Amino acid sequence: MSDVPAGSSEAAAPAAPPARLTVEDLKSWLRVTASRIAERADELTELDAAIGDADHGANMRRGMAAVVKAIDAANGADGAPALDTADALLKKTGMTLVSSVGGASGPLYGTFFMRMGASQAGATELGAGALASAIDAGVAGIVARGKAGAGEKTMLDAWYPALEALRAEGEDLAAATAAAASAAAEGRDATEPMIATKGRASYLGERSQGHIDPGAASTAIILGALADVVAGTAEAPGAEVTAAEEPVAKAARPQETGTAGTAAAVEPPDPAPSPDSEEKGSGAADSGAAVGIVLVSHSRALAEAARELATGLMSSVSAPIEIAAGLPDGGLGTDAGAVAAAIERLAARPGNRGVLVVADLGSGIMSAEAALERLGPDTASRARLSPAPFVEGLIGAYGAAGIGLELEAVAAEAAKAAPAKAAQISGA
Ligand code: ADP
Ligand code: MG
Repeated sequence: MSDVPAGSSEAAAPAAPPARLTVEDLKSWLRVTASRIAERADELTELDAAIGDADHGANMRRGMAAVVKAIDAANGADGAPALDTADALLKKTGMTLVSSVGGASGPLYGTFFMRMGASQAGATELGAGALASAIDAGVAGIVARGKAGAGEKTMLDAWYPALEALRAEGEDLAAATAAAASAAAEGRDATEPMIATKGRASYLGERSQGHIDPGAASTAIILGALADVVAGTAEAPGAEVTAAEEPVAKAARPQETGTAGTAAAVEPPDPAPSPDSEEKGSGAADSGAAVGIVLVSHSRALAEAARELATGLMSSVSAPIEIAAGLPDGGLGTDAGAVAAAIERLAARPGNRGVLVVADLGSGIMSAEAALERLGPDTASRARLSPAPFVEGLIGAYGAAGIGLELEAVAAEAAKAAPAKAAQISGA
């Protein structure tokens, strides 16, 4: 079916569904996916605003537009590789997504397509069985990259049922892809009551319940496009996605998430850095009834950037952060007096649930320990120094404090950060 109809098939009697997907069909699939993702980017972003950082729609639209651009460029002219086998096309798709998406979904979908392609070396057509094996390999790639399993409220909760449905239909490509698309849509809807335990949404714990996972929603779009291309009912891909959209990498973009807490993360830098602690409440309400966090670093710039990272990554939660970092003259160093004052200010806030101190290294730890020793017994009993690494510990602590957990649990989340990072690194 290299001649997939460009328009709706409603008027014409649909041709018999193809038994095999050609490379042209795979390209149509990617183009239709790009078009539908672009159309529904706002919807995906809204889902991500509820439990993440409101960028999934923009991430996916940018990534799929780059894929379409790569396909357009791959006409064999100008030395561009022709992408005339399934593995060349799918690997190129994966590499393009990895380098253009920005969020977690970039490496996850990127690995999916790369592994899907690698499983079909040299193939120019895929029957239903080969498609199921290719998707199986891709899903194994998502698992290898993200270390998630079923029921953790991720895109896998759409991929797993889809794969099962593909397998169950045997060699009938149209029936198999249609069943996979409906299973993915059901899997997407089934993520709503789940509590996220992987990805950014896991920072919200139980507050992630009641929302559909954005990655599961984009997976359902991808599989819906595949079924419609196979059935010959896919619309012509919109022309707009062939344009280079949003070529700016995520890291280089200004804060643009637009959710309530984001404003706090774009606060202008303090023009006159001082070692005095500075309160950081992010935009969301009730930050008083939370564990407070003191950041102790040799570098004020590092502490401010770490705070911005935490509040920016978790814009839908809030906990007070104070900074005790750097020397009065702007140099590198820490000051136990400033740390103690920061702890006391946080402990005095109404509803305070304790204070976790996260320090960078060396004398930062010594200053923090010295500060804890000079606190009055009441405050000292509610303050704790975390052994966690600075950035990872802060992120774990901020997410836990932001959902109102007690000091023990906040300290435990921070301490888990280093082993969680090690586990994320393949083979660690
Ligand atoms: P980010 O979370 O970095 O902002 P996106 O918003 O683009 O990235 O993508 C978020 C989606 O990625 C989630 O909705 C979820 O489906 C998926 N995701 C995140 N982490 C994992 C993981 N470890 N395993 C599988 N999928 C994940
Ligand atoms: Mg996101």
